[in-house]
Amino acid sequence: MNTGKKLLDDCFLHDKDRLRHDECLALILERLAPVVAAEQVAVARAGGRVLANPIAAPRDVPLHTNSAVDGYAFAQASLEASGDTVLPVVSRIPAGSRFNGNVGKGQAARIFTGAALPDGVDTVVMQEDCEVSPDGRHVTIPQGTRRGANIRRAGEDLREGDTVLEPGRFLQPQDVAAIASLGMALVDVFRPVRVALVSSGDELVQPGAPIRHGQVYDSNRAMLAALAASLPVTVTDLGALADDAGAVSAALAEAAAGHDLIITSGGASRGEEDHIVETIGRLGKRHLWQIAIKPGRPMAMGQIGDCAVIGLPGNPVAAFVCFLLYVRPAVVALGGGHWRQPQRYPVPAGFSVPKKKPDRREFWRGWLETGEDGVPVARKFPRDGSGLISGLRLATGLIEIGEDVTAVDEGDMVNYIPFGELGINGS
Ligand code: AMP
Ligand code: MG
Repeated sequence: MNTGKKLLDDCFLHDKDRLRHDECLALILERLAPVVAAEQVAVARAGGRVLANPIAAPRDVPLHTNSAVDGYAFAQASLEASGDTVLPVVSRIPAGSRFNGNVGKGQAARIFTGAALPDGVDTVVMQEDCEVSPDGRHVTIPQGTRRGANIRRAGEDLREGDTVLEPGRFLQPQDVAAIASLGMALVDVFRPVRVALVSSGDELVQPGAPIRHGQVYDSNRAMLAALAASLPVTVTDLGALADDAGAVSAALAEAAAGHDLIITSGGASRGEEDHIVETIGRLGKRHLWQIAIKPGRPMAMGQIGDCAVIGLPGNPVAAFVCFLLYVRPAVVALGGGHWRQPQRYPVPAGFSVPKKKPDRREFWRGWLETGEDGVPVARKFPRDGSGLISGLRLATGLIEIGEDVTAVDEGDMVNYIPFGELGINGS
């Protein structure tokens, strides 16, 4: 990819000359490769980790054909051609038992959910659907019972040798269930990505400390730590740095030595108080800076030695959006995971925006509401200020507005990306 022109450090870049969202994402995924070795963890601790090796079924699941209900098992051929059938109950088969006998034609067995089906039977009727004699020795099976009813076949979930999970998979709770169902106690996963978080800005005060005029609480670091909690990472909190080139330089150089990724917030713009991006370039290499998006334009990405660095803008909404759009794929790439594009859902806009600048992609804080006709419509937080955390709290996703769009009318289709598609719970 030739991005030379886009990487020009030109103060007068117009949005059309800045790196576009898709290019920025492609560049991040292209420049960042897995840095993590595999390790083993107990299956119960594997949720949220990235699978390092493929998992295949060592045997059929379920291992044996078994009953799906508490009821009575028999051969369907034992039933009368018409009307109900009374069968003698010759055995009792609880779940987990080993039953070596045979249930012959014209006989039934009392059976429980999960119990292996004995030889000779092919059908189970639920206990609620049949009548049992007071002494429990006979059961009346209703007519019309289908052959194979209420049976779970050996291997119907997985066949021996089936590939169950591919490497790179972010293990979900249901994947953990699948792995445990194969009898595996340990899982090969990639070690977590080592992330350092750092804020920058002379105006920042830490939560808990008194605040005076001109200062602002450092909300980004807590937010970024909470966002990082949804990813397979270990986080080092490096605190807040002053707007001082020496301090920024020393902190980033030290952090780069012991981490895979440094995430900074603030100080990423072009003012003389902004030292992050210049420092990345001086200590290492800057891969990109300035993106044709809103919010988040000043974001930068580079590396210091083998450590990737992402410089997020200081405005909380911009930092949040850039984390979801760019930091997440970066962590996935470093951590050996497969990243996939978030699913976009086209929904009609329940708002109008008469004017939007062309040549940049915008991500608006939004949520869905059910319209009068029962169809969901996208709502937009009415204000755009990227310091307004209130809008983030109301949002359950992002409304993505393409570069070529210059206005949105009510009813126009817009792309809604639920936060769940970006790795966090939006509800
Ligand atoms: P900057 O990117 O440093 O120019 O900062 C842009 C805006 O974001 C300024 O209003 C900063 O005060 C604010 N800001 C920067 N860092 C943080 C932070 N860690 N928490 C909250 N606000 C911040
Ligand atoms: Mg600043």
